[in-house]
Amino acid sequence: EAREGAPSRPVSRLVVLAGPTAVGKGTVSTYIRDHYPDVLLSVSATTRAPRPGEVDGEHYYFVTDEDFDAMIERGDFLEYATVHNASRYGTPRPPIDAALAQGRSVLLEIDLQGARAVRAAMPEALLVFLLPPSWEELVRRLTGRGTEDAAEQSRRLDTARIELAAQDEFDVKVVNRDVGRAAQEVVELLAVPGAPSART
Ligand code: 5GP
Repeated sequence: EAREGAPSRPVSRLVVLAGPTAVGKGTVSTYIRDHYPDVLLSVSATTRAPRPGEVDGEHYYFVTDEDFDAMIERGDFLEYATVHNASRYGTPRPPIDAALAQGRSVLLEIDLQGARAVRAAMPEALLVFLLPPSWEELVRRLTGRGTEDAAEQSRRLDTARIELAAQDEFDVKVVNRDVGRAAQEVVELLAVPGAPSART
């Protein structure tokens, strides 16, 4: 169980936010993007098709397999991975380098493999694991959508169990009990100028 309010948390200009499926990574990242415009929320490239409502260049850069290969060729990716269902996802490096050079902080919301790859490529990155308040709450969030059948739900719960087992690889754990509070905890790790300061 993560301890909240632990003293002297580390700070980095580059934070990777990962965590199990359905924990609310996307909601927390979007909240930060909307409330803390100084933070660059990295936009990944993906070969999967847009879902209804997803905007190219905002949620993802939707690219073809050929585009994706060309980006790999050019060395454009900080990391890339094939996530379930054979779609590929990658983090474009140039916007991140540019933001860091301007003194901006950068937030990446990627999966576990991606978090490990970023750690290897950029050791200064701070890895943050977003946790549900409890296992029961994660089950509730996962099944509450009611969009998956029982078999799919149990498959996702197995994945979540495996993902939760990786939490000790991370530098910091943040419990997503409330989106605004979790977002503020992440922002404090980002040392954003003008943001509410960390416990001092
Ligand atoms: P979705 O297709 O539901 O948007 O995302 C599927 C998974 O891909 C999520 O776990 C998400 O965190 C992960 N993902 C999104 N962008 C990237 C990326 O650039 N790199 C890696 N490694 N994973 C990503």
